[in-house]
Amino acid sequence: MSSIPSATVGRLVTYLRILTEFETAGVRTTSSDELAAVAHVSAFQVRKDLAYFGRFGTRGAGYTVATLRRELRRILGLTRPWHVAIMGMGRLGQALADYPNFDRHEFLLAAAFDVDPAVVGKSYGSLTVEPVTELGRAVAERAIDLAFLTVPGGAAQVAADALVAAGVRGILSFAPTVVVVPAHVRVERVDLSAGLQRLTYYLHDALAMAT
Ligand code: NAD
Repeated sequence: MSSIPSATVGRLVTYLRILTEFETAGVRTTSSDELAAVAHVSAFQVRKDLAYFGRFGTRGAGYTVATLRRELRRILGLTRPWHVAIMGMGRLGQALADYPNFDRHEFLLAAAFDVDPAVVGKSYGSLTVEPVTELGRAVAERAIDLAFLTVPGGAAQVAADALVAAGVRGILSFAPTVVVVPAHVRVERVDLSAGLQRLTYYLHDALAMAT
């Protein structure tokens, strides 16, 4: 599966969201043209992305929404619940703990950790903050697979090392620094500044064209 381009994986997530909206709206069948139009990609791209995983549609008849949605959920590993920890319960960690929508997807917030004794013991959403010394036990007992990494940049590597040592296999890092992990662990970075920079590229471009 590592030979699949990560851009394809990102688009599969988009297709799944669109199919979920279609299903909610009572749409039963769709086509690569229709999916492409909503996802802002070409129909060729949709077919190419799906072709990595086999054949899903019927020539001429398109895709059954429920079937394609089920297949994408399987491909994306969403047919089982994933237990998620929050590492670093400052402003961002607290906001994530209060976000009610993860459990509408397959993600269950299972634990929150911090090194600051002033934060440990406080409750946010359904979680009570635990000391990092409890990480190994909690990960094993609650089968925690994934973690949000919401510590300052200077602490990100130490915190990631602790997560990896405890057995966490996937880290969604909000820290502005790069963290290095062993090959069996996957890190994805969320970078809001990079998102803003992509926006300014397009706005700047549009402004330059208009003048
Ligand atoms: P914050 O300072 O409010 O909270 C950080 C928390 O991490 C604190 O409670 C601290 O005690 C804890 N911590 C420090 N070292 C730790 C360790 N080794 N193990 C566990 N906990 C530890 O910070 P914040 O505003 O919540 O931001 C958190 C991170 O997210 C920062 O790295 C920040 O740069 C980043 N951030 C990223 C984006 C983005 O777009 N990616 C946006 C906002 C914030």
